[in-house]
Amino acid sequence: MLRGIGTSKGIGMGNALVLVEQNVRIKTETVENAEEEILRYRKAKQQFVHDTDKLIEGLAKQLKEQEKTALVLKNQVYLVKDIELNEGIENLIKTQKICAEAAVEDTCNLYINIFSNMENAAMNQRVIDIVDMKNRLIRILMGVNEVDFKDIKPGTIIVARELHPSMTALMDTSHIAGIVAEKGGDTSHAAILARALEIPAVLSVRDVCAKIKNGEQVIVDGEYGEVFVNPIEKTIEIYRRKQSAFLEKREELKKYIDKNTETADGKKVLLAANIGNEQEAAKAVADGAEGIGLFRTEFLFMNGVSMPSEDEQYEAYRRVAVIFKDKPVIIRTLDIGGDKDIPYMGLSREANPFLGYRGIRFCLDRVDVFTVQLRAILRASAYGHIKIMIPMVTALQEILAVKKIIHGICQDFDRKEISYDKNIKLGIMIETPAAAAMADVLAHEADFFSIGTNDLTQYMMAVDRTNENVSYLYSTFNPAVLRMIKRIISCGHEAGIEVGMCGEAAGNPSMIPLLLAFGLDEFSVTASKVLDTRKNIADWTCSEAEGVAKQVMELYTDKEISNYLGDYILNKK
Ligand code: PEP
Ligand code: MG
Repeated sequence: MLRGIGTSKGIGMGNALVLVEQNVRIKTETVENAEEEILRYRKAKQQFVHDTDKLIEGLAKQLKEQEKTALVLKNQVYLVKDIELNEGIENLIKTQKICAEAAVEDTCNLYINIFSNMENAAMNQRVIDIVDMKNRLIRILMGVNEVDFKDIKPGTIIVARELHPSMTALMDTSHIAGIVAEKGGDTSHAAILARALEIPAVLSVRDVCAKIKNGEQVIVDGEYGEVFVNPIEKTIEIYRRKQSAFLEKREELKKYIDKNTETADGKKVLLAANIGNEQEAAKAVADGAEGIGLFRTEFLFMNGVSMPSEDEQYEAYRRVAVIFKDKPVIIRTLDIGGDKDIPYMGLSREANPFLGYRGIRFCLDRVDVFTVQLRAILRASAYGHIKIMIPMVTALQEILAVKKIIHGICQDFDRKEISYDKNIKLGIMIETPAAAAMADVLAHEADFFSIGTNDLTQYMMAVDRTNENVSYLYSTFNPAVLRMIKRIISCGHEAGIEVGMCGEAAGNPSMIPLLLAFGLDEFSVTASKVLDTRKNIADWTCSEAEGVAKQVMELYTDKEISNYLGDYILNKK
């Protein structure tokens, strides 16, 4: 059995098709007329955009209506138009008199090296995008045709080193029973697309192309990240059963798509989704999310090789707002620092990045960057129900400073008659102990709270959320964290504002009775957990949840609490 990261749930069974990538040999000759070469490059770029749009169109036909925007290839169209990248390529042709193929290769490799050195899943995805874009652009320049994947037989398990977005677009995906690749993680485009198409996928399987041969029988378990090659009859039998149980459960959950989110005795709460881009927004709306509780905008900044302009950001925010129509879309302002770096922002290395130049601290220092983002969000607010949220708040003056900047932008917009939502709400994340302790005061300056349990747990427990050595202390079930969550919700309610939660805890089935009992107004979960969470909420009555919470709050350790909740839920079934 081979192991990797399960990135798209489900069981896939079929025969392997091992994809071998054909590398093109790059021309490296010099040119006499640089101007002509630049024109040749620009033509290839146009061809690239045209071809990619065609691929997107083809892929859209294979996706469900609501998921048409789950087209990861769009990123490549933005990338190929990136101003800095183009200046780099054209300058090389001009100054070094090298051919367009070599200039594309050199310039893209520069960015590939920068992004490859960053230990960050989103950045690794940028690498895949740039490599795919580079190879296709060079193929166009050299007049080499794309590889033909059209004749894939039904029940095929695709095995590849790396699944480039353009490859997937060239395949008849209805014939793909599963995907296995050597590279890629949960946020890679292969994973996003596999989830949108409901194809089981296991990525990051070491040397898999050498371990599986064409035509061999393969089972892919996209939940547990397991891959079986030439399985024995007994394994096939077990996985057949697992497959039908999985499909049954998926069908059962689909019943919750159009339902209200409410407890068994009818108490309604809002169920929203956390997203990082437009594709996830489309997936969330398809699964019946009632809004966006957290739009992590840093991914937009990680997408390109330079900062997205006001117009680019405006378009991205506007499109998500339009997808959700009158439902709330909470856009969190840039939260970089900590474990999220953006190379072109020039952040210096810090001894304690999680305690350093992060989130709102960065934005209030780089008002130039912050203002561009706030202008884009405010302009987009004219098209839907956008709310603004500030991350990493620790002090009252940070909220006041943000209000001042927003006020200045609104005055400018009023003078220039630029439309925006004049009643736009400004909320804050409560994810630091300082903000939690001051929640009663902050609630008078914020329009809403959203509890960020990922960071709140880290800072309450003084445990770096990425440090394996101390991960045993990182538990949201620790009574210290639970007491804080309860307090934050009460403080918000006493001041008359709504309190949501967008940390991972909001989607944890064991946490749900506690959050219901504490009175949480909004649960915001990863797009793929929307339906599960709606079902889990429907399993509780308010009085049962309150009884459980009362017991839990009398316990003193995270282990006792999680065991108690785990057992209770198991016996409930
Ligand atoms: C959190 O801290 O809980 C949160 C939702 O934000 P992030 O994980 O992006 O830091
Ligand atoms: Mg956070």
